[in-house]
Amino acid sequence: MHSLTARSFPLRRPRGVLPMARGAGPAGPRQVFCYHCDHPLTVGAMAMSTNCPGCNKPIILEDIVVKSYKAVFNVETCGKLIVKKGGRVVAQKRIVAHAGIESDGVIQCKTAITGSHVRLGKKSEWRGDLRTPTLIVEPGAKIQTSHFSVPDDPLEHLKKNDQ
Ligand SMILES: [Zn+2]
Repeated sequence: MHSLTARSFPLRRPRGVLPMARGAGPAGPRQVFCYHCDHPLTVGAMAMSTNCPGCNKPIILEDIVVKSYKAVFNVETCGKLIVKKGGRVVAQKRIVAHAGIESDGVIQCKTAITGSHVRLGKKSEWRGDLRTPTLIVEPGAKIQTSHFSVPDDPLEHLKKNDQ
């Protein structure tokens, strides 16, 4: 006889950072928060950018995909930072990618923070401090002069720092 047990449900790791990662489908709105002032806002799934109602600054919602050399002051998005093979990101200051970082290229920064996950591919290179709740480093990835920490809520630290 069929019986319903706890095993019938997929285990979900308590993460509590970004509901958007679970996704309500491509058409559903998602909840994000501003990386300048921490103001929460609901945006369309396909929205690429918006203005924060809290601080009026523009915020990027889409994934940032880098395939070549990109030298910037900051990389900031509520989406992911994806660095393809052959791509190189040099951020003078910080990288904030709320939905995670995936790299098969080179990333250099002062600090990087995500609320989701980081994957460093086998031929990737990384330099800079990093805070992320999940870190996957594939064998062969090169990491130089960096302080990594893997706390429960990396963005909590970001909020405190900004105040
Ligand atoms: Zn804001």
